[in-house]
Amino acid sequence: MSKLIILSGPSGVGKGTIEALLLKNKHLLIKLAISATTRKKRKNEIDGVNYFFLTEQMFKKKIENEEFIEWSRHFNNYYGTLKSQIEFIKSQNYIPLLEIDTTGAKNIIESYQKKGKLSELLTIFILPPSLEVLKNRIEKRLTETYVQINQRLEKAKSEIKIKNLFQFQVVNDNLEQCVNELEKIISKVVEKS
Ligand code: 5GP
Repeated sequence: MSKLIILSGPSGVGKGTIEALLLKNKHLLIKLAISATTRKKRKNEIDGVNYFFLTEQMFKKKIENEEFIEWSRHFNNYYGTLKSQIEFIKSQNYIPLLEIDTTGAKNIIESYQKKGKLSELLTIFILPPSLEVLKNRIEKRLTETYVQINQRLEKAKSEIKIKNLFQFQVVNDNLEQCVNELEKIISKVVEKS
């Protein structure tokens, strides 16, 4: 089984919550690929569990050594999926789930397309019901300033433009329905592979 699941969408759309619920479903046989990042650790986050927290120097060294399957710069921080994580998850006979930003997702889709290996990916784009709802959700996070909220909304507008690169687009209006839909998509594709 050589599938990789790419879950992406604009920031604030709820990817993290969706991913956490999907991972609870043991029938899906998926495991989250823990990403590396240079952003600061938040309260309650654990190194090696939520992310591998790296310095910029360490991250750049890994880029140089081609240790990432994809990486991107997102709001002044680097984020990337380590090839070693993918191999580790596959070696346990699980399907790696990559919860990544739209730049990283676009890069990985295009590189698999070039290699003629697009069938190895299951790509899903999460959409907000509307930009107004997305704005409310971002505002509720309270960690962001007014300027950051607007930056995120502007970025979201341009991020949504790439939705057609993905095999599936799912709207996160009702969280439970959205997760149910994703579970169906994942089970179907995984059964076939
Ligand atoms: P946060 O800092 O809130 O945890 O994540 C910010 C953004 O980085 C989210 O959109 C998340 O999907 C994205 N992200 C997390 N890990 C990776 C990764 O390995 N690669 C890429 N390209 N984006 C990531």
